[in-house]
Amino acid sequence: MILGTPRTGTPERPFREAVVDVGAISENVATLAALVAPAEVLAVVKAGGYGHGSIAAARAALAGGASRLGVVDVHEAMALRAAGIQAPILAWLHDPDVDFVPALHAEIELGISSLAQLERAAAAADRIGGTARVHLKIDTGLSRNGIPPEEWAAVLARAVELDEDRLVRVVGVFSHLANTDADSDAAQQAVFEAAVAEARETGLEPEVRHLAATAAAMRRPELRYDLVRLGIGIYGIPPFCDGTTSAEAGLRPAMTLRARVAAVRRIAAGTGVSYDHAWRTERDTTLALVPLGYADGIPRAVSGAGAEVLLGGRRHPIVGRIAMDQFLVDVGDAAVEVGDEVVLFGDPATGAPSADEFAAWAGTIGYELVTRIGPRVRRTYLGGAEGAVADAPVQWGPPRDPAVGGSGR
Ligand SMILES: *Cc1c(COP(=O)(O)O)cnc(C)c1O
Repeated sequence: MILGTPRTGTPERPFREAVVDVGAISENVATLAALVAPAEVLAVVKAGGYGHGSIAAARAALAGGASRLGVVDVHEAMALRAAGIQAPILAWLHDPDVDFVPALHAEIELGISSLAQLERAAAAADRIGGTARVHLKIDTGLSRNGIPPEEWAAVLARAVELDEDRLVRVVGVFSHLANTDADSDAAQQAVFEAAVAEARETGLEPEVRHLAATAAAMRRPELRYDLVRLGIGIYGIPPFCDGTTSAEAGLRPAMTLRARVAAVRRIAAGTGVSYDHAWRTERDTTLALVPLGYADGIPRAVSGAGAEVLLGGRRHPIVGRIAMDQFLVDVGDAAVEVGDEVVLFGDPATGAPSADEFAAWAGTIGYELVTRIGPRVRRTYLGGAEGAVADAPVQWGPPRDPAVGGSGR
């Protein structure tokens, strides 16, 4: 028996919604900036601002006291410039065929992880009669991106030549930590300091040394140097993956993922529910249908893992398989109606699961959960001084039409 008629949502109450409190992002940045001062804050707004919207997140972070922004590639950086954001922006992971000319026109700073990238940056600067501002990235032990220590001297020697030719200016030296333990941090720190010292011996004068992301910035003052690159923390999600709550970390989660109940039905004891009938009712009960599935970023792995949502002021379990578009919640005998609000995750102070708690049911971390919310979920923005704007739908990649993404736009 269907107990109500599904409504599809209104602009005021969208059917599926990620509500982003940009005021929380500004507050988190202010809290962290005070903690790390005098180090500067570079706010990381890659991957669409960790799913929160890169433009909204960037503006909120700058309002909260960040002095720089960081993204992964130059296309993400240029999307911020196109939105009128003028703060320094660093992009650090590049397509081997990238043309840096538009990025240099847009005054994007480049993280450099190889001699080939350095040459490409210099060639682009030469073409426009300008200078590429670069941050040389040394691999101190993450063994991922970055210049391997055995190639550092050769890259420095070339950087000195290009600096003398005014094609390159080495603004920074940086690296990234593996986040394993204090000993591994210390080992990476030693490699980092040697690399900085070697750069200075060649006569380069990097203004900013940066090593720490959120976790090290919060817990290891000796790794803050001149600048910290803060990602997950500015969104209010603790970086530690050890059960530390946002409140304990002094942070407030910015994103609430919610939807409206699409259907409610009373089901008899012993009935199979959702695909494969992986779950059966033990007693007569009421099931609420939630219009979010794995296409919307709800991991299928939470099926049968004890996951809960907040509905009608109480936690209720998710039952049966998560499908592409929907899942079911067993509300027992609670009075739930079509159109009621269901919160999947948000600020745990409201009783909702935190992003980390929800992620743990799927064997993952809050970072992955928030960055994978799909395009059917509407982002709406609360708070903040400067009316936040949503990113254009899924627009972090290179433009298809070369005419659309010209220099400096
Ligand atoms: C993503 C990223 C960060 C931010 O890390 P958080 O743990 O989210 O603070 C910092 N630096 C680099 C190089 C990154 O790729």
